[in-house]
Amino acid sequence: MTDSIFSKIIRGEVPSHKVYEDDFVIAILDIAPLSEGHTLVIPKEPAETLDELSDDHAAALGRVLPRICRAVKRVTGAESYNLLQNNGQAAGQAVPHVHFHIIPRFPERGEAVDGKPDKDNGPGLRTTWKPGTLTQEEALELGKHIKRLL
Ligand code: AMP
Repeated sequence: MTDSIFSKIIRGEVPSHKVYEDDFVIAILDIAPLSEGHTLVIPKEPAETLDELSDDHAAALGRVLPRICRAVKRVTGAESYNLLQNNGQAAGQAVPHVHFHIIPRFPERGEAVDGKPDKDNGPGLRTTWKPGTLTQEEALELGKHIKRLL
Protein backbone atom coordinates (compact mmCIF):
# COMPACT_ATOMS: atom_id res chain seq x y z
CA MET A 1 0.00 0.00 0.00
CA THR A 2 1.36 3.40 -0.94
CA ASP A 3 1.12 6.57 1.10
CA SER A 4 -0.73 8.65 -1.46
CA ILE A 5 -1.68 12.32 -1.43
CA PHE A 6 -5.14 11.24 -0.23
CA SER A 7 -3.70 9.52 2.87
CA LYS A 8 -1.89 12.77 3.66
CA ILE A 9 -5.15 14.70 3.22
CA ILE A 10 -6.99 12.21 5.46
CA ARG A 11 -4.32 12.66 8.16
CA GLY A 12 -4.58 16.43 7.81
CA GLU A 13 -0.97 16.80 6.62
CA VAL A 14 -2.03 18.34 3.31
CA PRO A 15 -4.81 20.95 3.10
CA SER A 16 -8.02 20.22 1.23
CA HIS A 17 -11.52 21.58 0.84
CA LYS A 18 -13.26 18.92 2.91
CA VAL A 19 -17.04 18.81 2.55
CA TYR A 20 -17.76 15.61 4.52
CA GLU A 21 -16.09 13.35 7.06
CA ASP A 22 -17.07 10.36 9.19
CA ASP A 23 -15.08 7.47 10.74
CA PHE A 24 -14.61 5.73 7.37
CA VAL A 25 -14.94 8.30 4.59
CA ILE A 26 -14.02 11.85 3.59
CA ALA A 27 -15.21 13.90 0.64
CA ILE A 28 -13.19 16.80 -0.79
CA LEU A 29 -13.45 19.14 -3.73
CA ASP A 30 -11.24 18.04 -6.63
CA ILE A 31 -8.26 20.38 -7.02
CA ALA A 32 -8.55 20.33 -10.83
CA PRO A 33 -12.32 20.12 -11.37
CA LEU A 34 -13.83 18.95 -14.64
CA SER A 35 -16.93 20.94 -13.76
CA GLU A 36 -18.36 23.01 -10.91
CA GLY A 37 -18.87 20.80 -7.86
CA HIS A 38 -16.48 18.00 -8.94
CA THR A 39 -16.11 16.12 -5.65
CA LEU A 40 -14.01 13.13 -4.59
CA VAL A 41 -15.40 10.61 -2.10
CA ILE A 42 -12.53 8.73 -0.47
CA PRO A 43 -12.52 5.83 2.01
CA LYS A 44 -9.99 6.30 4.80
CA GLU A 45 -8.62 2.78 4.32
CA PRO A 46 -5.56 3.09 2.04
CA ALA A 47 -6.68 0.49 -0.54
CA GLU A 48 -5.36 1.19 -4.03
CA THR A 49 -8.30 -0.23 -5.98
CA LEU A 50 -11.93 -0.96 -5.15
CA ASP A 51 -11.46 -4.73 -5.12
CA GLU A 52 -8.98 -4.34 -2.22
CA LEU A 53 -11.40 -2.44 -0.02
CA SER A 54 -12.75 -4.04 3.19
CA ASP A 55 -16.48 -4.69 3.52
CA ASP A 56 -16.75 -2.12 6.33
CA HIS A 57 -15.28 0.69 4.26
CA ALA A 58 -17.25 -0.39 1.19
CA ALA A 59 -20.48 -0.31 3.20
CA ALA A 60 -19.66 3.12 4.63
CA LEU A 61 -18.95 4.43 1.11
CA GLY A 62 -22.20 3.02 -0.21
CA ARG A 63 -24.12 4.63 2.62
CA VAL A 64 -22.85 8.18 2.04
CA LEU A 65 -22.33 8.31 -1.74
CA PRO A 66 -25.98 9.03 -2.63
CA ARG A 67 -26.19 11.62 0.14
CA ILE A 68 -23.13 13.48 -1.14
CA CYS A 69 -24.48 13.26 -4.72
CA ARG A 70 -27.73 14.84 -3.52
CA ALA A 71 -25.86 17.71 -1.84
CA VAL A 72 -23.70 18.37 -4.94
CA LYS A 73 -26.80 18.32 -7.17
CA ARG A 74 -28.71 20.72 -4.92
CA VAL A 75 -25.84 23.17 -4.58
CA THR A 76 -24.82 23.25 -8.26
CA GLY A 77 -28.26 22.80 -9.79
CA ALA A 78 -26.91 20.03 -12.03
CA GLU A 79 -29.56 17.65 -13.34
CA SER A 80 -27.03 15.08 -14.57
CA TYR A 81 -23.79 13.83 -13.14
CA ASN A 82 -21.34 10.96 -13.55
CA LEU A 83 -19.84 8.77 -10.87
CA LEU A 84 -16.40 7.81 -12.09
CA GLN A 85 -14.17 5.33 -10.33
CA ASN A 86 -10.83 4.45 -11.94
CA ASN A 87 -8.89 1.33 -10.97
CA GLY A 88 -5.36 0.88 -12.29
CA GLN A 89 -3.23 2.83 -14.74
CA ALA A 90 -4.91 1.54 -17.88
CA ALA A 91 -8.22 2.76 -16.46
CA GLY A 92 -6.81 6.24 -15.93
CA GLN A 93 -6.15 6.07 -12.20
CA ALA A 94 -3.56 8.66 -11.22
CA VAL A 95 -3.83 8.55 -7.42
CA PRO A 96 -3.37 5.00 -6.04
CA HIS A 97 -6.01 5.28 -3.31
CA VAL A 98 -9.66 4.35 -3.96
CA HIS A 99 -11.85 7.34 -4.77
CA PHE A 100 -15.15 8.06 -6.48
CA HIS A 101 -15.48 11.17 -8.62
CA ILE A 102 -18.85 12.94 -8.58
CA ILE A 103 -18.83 15.02 -11.78
CA PRO A 104 -21.84 17.28 -12.38
CA ARG A 105 -22.78 17.90 -16.03
CA PHE A 106 -23.88 21.27 -17.41
CA PRO A 107 -24.79 21.05 -21.12
CA GLU A 108 -26.76 24.27 -20.74
CA ARG A 109 -23.44 26.03 -20.04
CA GLY A 110 -21.90 24.74 -23.26
CA GLU A 111 -20.02 21.96 -21.47
CA ALA A 112 -19.44 18.52 -22.93
CA VAL A 113 -22.39 16.32 -23.89
CA ASP A 114 -21.95 12.60 -24.51
CA GLY A 115 -22.42 11.54 -28.10
CA LYS A 116 -21.48 14.88 -29.71
CA PRO A 117 -18.49 14.86 -32.07
CA ASP A 118 -15.21 16.21 -30.60
CA LYS A 119 -15.14 19.30 -32.82
CA ASP A 120 -18.61 20.45 -31.67
CA ASN A 121 -18.20 19.60 -28.02
CA GLY A 122 -17.48 21.76 -24.99
CA PRO A 123 -14.99 21.23 -22.16
CA GLY A 124 -15.47 18.68 -19.39
CA LEU A 125 -16.01 14.95 -19.08
CA ARG A 126 -17.15 12.79 -21.96
CA THR A 127 -17.71 9.10 -21.65
CA THR A 128 -17.58 7.15 -24.88
CA TRP A 129 -17.08 3.50 -25.55
CA LYS A 130 -17.17 1.17 -28.45
CA PRO A 131 -19.38 -1.79 -27.54
CA GLY A 132 -18.27 -5.34 -28.38
CA THR A 133 -20.35 -8.51 -28.62
CA LEU A 134 -21.08 -11.41 -26.29
CA THR A 135 -22.20 -14.79 -27.55
CA GLN A 136 -24.45 -17.10 -25.53
CA GLU A 137 -21.55 -19.55 -25.11
CA GLU A 138 -19.13 -16.86 -23.95
CA ALA A 139 -21.68 -15.49 -21.45
CA LEU A 140 -22.38 -18.93 -19.97
CA GLU A 141 -18.67 -19.76 -19.65
CA LEU A 142 -17.62 -16.40 -18.19
CA GLY A 143 -20.67 -16.17 -15.92
CA LYS A 144 -20.00 -19.64 -14.53
CA HIS A 145 -16.44 -18.71 -13.49
CA ILE A 146 -17.39 -15.37 -11.95
CA LYS A 147 -20.31 -16.90 -10.02
CA ARG A 148 -17.99 -19.53 -8.60
CA LEU A 149 -15.89 -16.83 -6.90
CA LEU A 150 -18.80 -14.92 -5.36
P1 AMP B 1 -7.81 9.60 -10.85
O1 AMP B 1 -7.30 9.82 -12.24
O2 AMP B 1 -9.16 8.89 -10.86
O3 AMP B 1 -6.81 8.92 -9.97
O4 AMP B 1 -8.12 11.05 -10.30
C1 AMP B 1 -7.34 11.69 -9.34
C2 AMP B 1 -8.01 13.02 -9.06
O5 AMP B 1 -7.45 13.55 -7.87
C3 AMP B 1 -7.82 14.07 -10.15
O6 AMP B 1 -9.09 14.53 -10.60
C4 AMP B 1 -7.04 15.18 -9.45
O7 AMP B 1 -7.39 16.47 -9.88
C5 AMP B 1 -7.39 14.95 -8.00
N1 AMP B 1 -6.41 15.42 -7.04
C6 AMP B 1 -5.08 15.16 -7.02
N2 AMP B 1 -4.49 15.76 -5.97
C7 AMP B 1 -5.47 16.41 -5.29
C8 AMP B 1 -5.51 17.21 -4.12
N3 AMP B 1 -4.40 17.48 -3.42
N4 AMP B 1 -6.70 17.71 -3.71
C9 AMP B 1 -7.83 17.46 -4.41
N5 AMP B 1 -7.86 16.70 -5.52
C10 AMP B 1 -6.71 16.18 -5.96
